[in-house]
Amino acid sequence: MTTHENIAKALKARLSELTRRVAEIDSELRKPLSADFEEQAADLENQGALEAIENSEIHEIREIQEALRRISEGTYGVCTKCGIDIDPKRLKAQPTATRCISCAA
Ligand SMILES: [Zn+2]
Repeated sequence: MTTHENIAKALKARLSELTRRVAEIDSELRKPLSADFEEQAADLENQGALEAIENSEIHEIREIQEALRRISEGTYGVCTKCGIDIDPKRLKAQPTATRCISCAA
């Protein structure tokens, strides 16, 4: 297996994990609010926190989908700005990186 195939495999595992979590948060957010006023306040606070988590997870899902698309197109690991190969160590630490260290800085 090539390095990129290994990365794709890890990204897909992460993607299904994130998709499952976002679905869980969605069903949590769809629950009706408590009848009690004070509990409603706590519910809303909780929902705000869940929404923040959901948003960051949705953002990560998009990044992963983009990385998987680049892997299948054969453009993965190439800096989108200057076109050089991104350092494999950088990709290992941040598999969804689209720019090399100098362009990302
Ligand atoms: Zn670059």
